Amino acid sequence: MSEDKKVMNELKNDIYTQISSKYNKCLWPKSDCTNDCIKAHSIQNSQILDQLASNNHVVMPVARLNLDTGPEIEFKKVGRNKATTFTGLCSEHDRQLFRPIDVNKFDSSNEEQKFLIAYRSVLRELHTRIKAAIDLQTTYQKSVKLGKCDPNNRDISLFVTCRIVNAIDFCLYKKMYDNIYNSNSFTEVQHDYICIEKSCPLAVSSLFNPINSSAQNKRPEPKFIVLNVFPHNKNTIVLLSYLSHHQKELSSYANEIINANGDDRLYLLSKTILRYCENFVISPEQFESFSPPKVDAIKKFYGETAKRSDYDDDNENLMLF
Ligand SMILES: [Zn+2]
Repeated sequence: MSEDKKVMNELKNDIYTQISSKYNKCLWPKSDCTNDCIKAHSIQNSQILDQLASNNHVVMPVARLNLDTGPEIEFKKVGRNKATTFTGLCSEHDRQLFRPIDVNKFDSSNEEQKFLIAYRSVLRELHTRIKAAIDLQTTYQKSVKLGKCDPNNRDISLFVTCRIVNAIDFCLYKKMYDNIYNSNSFTEVQHDYICIEKSCPLAVSSLFNPINSSAQNKRPEPKFIVLNVFPHNKNTIVLLSYLSHHQKELSSYANEIINANGDDRLYLLSKTILRYCENFVISPEQFESFSPPKVDAIKKFYGETAKRSDYDDDNENLMLF
């Protein structure tokens, strides 16, 4: 084997090891916690995944790392005890934080419950972004050390820095949720609540910034719509949440979904999920009912929108409900 190939193999092995490593840090908002983290569910296991799983599995998008051709997206069955989990809370604090939504039935008039559902999505997102920034930084340093990346290439170093800044910005966003939690001022997060009288074949716990970044100021305060979709009492619940002081800028995006009707609304919601979210699960029963061309259209839209924010496709095959 040539020396160059050996170095590349070493680098690839290091990247795979780094990406499959866990980032353990309890994100408990009241104090610094150094306890070991558990695999905390971002989508509730007992009440929601239970309704969607078949043989203890659900279907979700999984990015398979291929360093030769780029990441490959697959929709595959994942065990429900692994699906949508993140190592961002210790067992004591996971229990303490989410007890009000884990032991009680969902009540749309309960502000604490709605806040906690959104808060859980925010915590998972922060964990994901920190982990991605650490993976990228570690990989970059290793590549430079092995002579496979030019430290003077400003495009690459800027890209790495942006991902780190992105994680730091999101820390500040999560801090606003921490302050609301610590002061019990739950109504500082506003919610648009939609109950659709149709059984729900999927669940989402995610968030997105729909505002075109080029239309924003240089370094704006990040604004997000937190999106949760889940089955409840044979209906589909949609919860769009945002900080009160972001409502003005974000409500027009939420209103597109709120003001649509019937299947148009579910189609719009499906495209929003596929465009912006990666933390969602579909019941295997539903996914297996999709035709091969429908699965191809879903995979293509999901993959292309991850690469290019302006990509669009008006295609009835993108309907997930
Ligand atoms: Zn803890």
